[in-house]
Amino acid sequence: MPKEMSRRTLIELSVAGAAALAGAEAKALDRPTLPGDQKIGFAVVGLGKLAQGQIIPGLRKAKSAKLVAVVSGHPDKARRIAAAEGLPADAVYSYDDYDRIAKDPRIQVVYIVLPNSMHADYTIRALKAGKHVLCEKPMATSVAECQAMIDAAKAANRKLMIAYRCHYEPKNLAAMRKMRSGALGKPRLFVTDMGRQADVSDPSDAWRVDKSLAGSGALGDMGIYGISASRYILNEEPVEVRAWANTDPADPRFKTVDDLIAWQFRFPSGAICNGSTSFNYNATMSYELWGEKARLRADPGAFYGGNRYEMVNGGAFTSIDIAEVDQFAREMDWMADVVRGKAPMVSPGEEGMQDMRLISAILESAAKGGTPVKTDWGYRRAVDPAAVVDIVA
Ligand code: NDP
Repeated sequence: MPKEMSRRTLIELSVAGAAALAGAEAKALDRPTLPGDQKIGFAVVGLGKLAQGQIIPGLRKAKSAKLVAVVSGHPDKARRIAAAEGLPADAVYSYDDYDRIAKDPRIQVVYIVLPNSMHADYTIRALKAGKHVLCEKPMATSVAECQAMIDAAKAANRKLMIAYRCHYEPKNLAAMRKMRSGALGKPRLFVTDMGRQADVSDPSDAWRVDKSLAGSGALGDMGIYGISASRYILNEEPVEVRAWANTDPADPRFKTVDDLIAWQFRFPSGAICNGSTSFNYNATMSYELWGEKARLRADPGAFYGGNRYEMVNGGAFTSIDIAEVDQFAREMDWMADVVRGKAPMVSPGEEGMQDMRLISAILESAAKGGTPVKTDWGYRRAVDPAAVVDIVA
């Protein structure tokens, strides 16, 4: 039997269902490291902080994915990084010769790690070049762009996955399973705060407060984690939103985007979500769910590492301890396994578009001073991460 067939497949896990896993740690799955020539080749587009700090290091550790090309507007940097990763000179692309990737059989997946307003264009061009795409969050800067990306993937018969690393992260998965298992009881209140101070002297932050490149401010960059978490933890979609923005007009960082945004989602179960995001408060990526029976606290809940999850019952705190993984390696391995037909798609373009719709609805309500906006567009996620993604790498 081939080595890769010996593992319990993810599809089997799906059938076993979240309930079977709830409350107990899922067993480690046998995910063998593929030989180099069988790994799925990734091209990384945009060699900024995330690409250099997380994605390329993640590809070094990945079991099913490997770096085969880089795309950059800075040839010296690109050549240096390519050489350090052992790539040949012809694996370095510029934005001008990007479409040449169509003729490069080494590249199977293109990972878009560009400023948000560039996601749609570079995704659609990669799909037209016959490549699968993994695209960073937020998926794009408008719902229309998201739809065009989904349409392009369908037309090209290629996979489009959004890089929602928390869908694949063990503690987030454990929290989803706690909720699904009934351990928390009926969900009542979900609170999430996701933000930090933006430092616009850093080029990586300068574009984040420029609406033409970012689409929105902290909401699309940080708040999106809270929007997404409320949906994947509760496993339902908000039907209504109200939101408020508060921006200091004297703060030069916030000429084109909002500073503080707070929102409320109403969910069909009756649960209410209080969310906030800001580029002008102390760094936090937290969420907390009060159920009728217990409380689940994740603070931090979405850092690259060091997340602290606990179940709280009155004054009793029980830590959810699960070994950390490299979240980026894991997510790219999942994408590689989707391409290889070994794993179901968990975070497709439709997931990214749902978050983009909710971002638009939050901004619409905030612009109208908190007027309620209906958000029940009939979207339901196709695959529950808690039902298919293994906890231990
Ligand atoms: P950076 O600014 O550090 O990197 C973006 C890179 O895009 C630049 O270094 C540059 O690469 C390229 N680029 C091309 N055109 C422009 C332009 N006009 N202005 C600025 N950069 C340009 O950003 P990040 O790496 O932090 O973020 C990139 C994407 O990743 C964003 O969509 C962000 O939301 C997402 N992200 C996701 C995270 C996660 O945890 N999933 C965490 C952080 C970011 P080059 O010089 O090679 O051309």
